[in-house]
Amino acid sequence: MPRPHIPNALRRLVIERARGLCEYCLVHQDDRPESHQIDHILALKHGGETVNDNLALACAVCNNYKGADLASIDPFDRSIVPLFNPRTQNWHDHFRLDAARIIGLTPTGDARRRSCYISTMKNAYTSARN
Ligand SMILES: [Zn+2]
Repeated sequence: MPRPHIPNALRRLVIERARGLCEYCLVHQDDRPESHQIDHILALKHGGETVNDNLALACAVCNNYKGADLASIDPFDRSIVPLFNPRTQNWHDHFRLDAARIIGLTPTGDARRRSCYISTMKNAYTSARN
């Protein structure tokens, strides 16, 4: 599916709202070698639109890992765990930072028990930096 055109004003709004931080792992775009990307939280292939409430600023690692996914499978009980949505959920309700690691606090973010994509992304990012 071709990438949609995102008007510059809308792109700027998304970047400013996120204060330059990836809304999934909180890495600032100045700390990444490439610019952050505009993520469609609900992917276009699932009917997501290019509107403010469906867009998030994401680093390339998070955006590529998430792709068009909406949920992950809990490896322990095989339940479906919705992915974190930065427009409808508060990051700090689901995660906390412990130095450079993201610790999950809920089923959506519990990195200790669940194979949440965001912890995987953060681990991949941390490993790539070390
Ligand atoms: Zn990220």
